[in-house]
Amino acid sequence: MRLGKLAVFVVYVFVATGCSILKNATKEQRQESPQATSQVEKAVLPTAQPPKAIVTAKSSPATEPVGRQQPLPAIPPTKDAAVDAPHTQAHEPKPQKIIWKHPDLLVTFDDFPCQRESRLKKQKEINQKIIAILKKYDVHTIVFANASMMMSHVEECTDMLREWVKNGHLIGNHTYSHQKLSKTDLLEYEMDIIRGEPLLKKVLAEYGQKLTYFRYPYLDYGSGKEKAGVAKFLEARGYEVVGITIDSLDWLYNARIKNDDASAYLAHVRKQLMDHFGKNEREIIIFHINAINAENFETILKEAKALGYKLV
Ligand SMILES: [Zn+2]
Repeated sequence: MRLGKLAVFVVYVFVATGCSILKNATKEQRQESPQATSQVEKAVLPTAQPPKAIVTAKSSPATEPVGRQQPLPAIPPTKDAAVDAPHTQAHEPKPQKIIWKHPDLLVTFDDFPCQRESRLKKQKEINQKIIAILKKYDVHTIVFANASMMMSHVEECTDMLREWVKNGHLIGNHTYSHQKLSKTDLLEYEMDIIRGEPLLKKVLAEYGQKLTYFRYPYLDYGSGKEKAGVAKFLEARGYEVVGITIDSLDWLYNARIKNDDASAYLAHVRKQLMDHFGKNEREIIIFHINAINAENFETILKEAKALGYKLV
């Protein structure tokens, strides 16, 4: 028991010291950086290369720190380049970047590899189907991953993640274990962000890319000290936080779907896309890598394009 307690104490001291070092580093960085440098610019421009242009979005919903200023351009890495140097890190990893094309629609997928699809083979097929549809329509996405959900089949899930990167999609951190910030201790939440990084960074580094994007699980931004603390923490680690403007509610329809009838789901997404069109310079829609999208994503992309959206 004593040894157990001692071990817990040592781990606690290690964690607390590590985070305090990070926070101190943040302070120093902020002192060095003039306020004119935005969070986004810091996140995407740690290298000497300036962006060719900066696009400024209109204001976003108050609670959603949706990407505001994004540099042009830079996805995707070509498939050939990825194949040529898949497991090497010849150069310093570069930040990932989004190509914005007004009026933009950024498609995002949360909860990779998706915990609701328990069978790995089925989940692989779903991944492949969605990737093929995106490729057919030349659409690029950000996939937000929870590394904890990859651990039971880590090799297979890592390969699945590589498929996304190979096909020009971006990978973001969605924390290790998908906790709600409003119900989690600040330090624990920060450690969960850090714990989610190594596997994602490893895959991205294989393709010369850097982990840049973050999405809060449950879109829970917390409040008070926690909210401010995590926001500063993410900024210090170079993250760009990606919120949403449109909720596809695909997880809900996926759970309810009967007789393969996805008409209610498609009607919901269609209405959302129509209602939002022209409202904001940029729309960001959330999906999950699930069966309902494997069967219906082509329809959604066709309709979005027909409405006039330019997909990232
Ligand atoms: Zn999530």
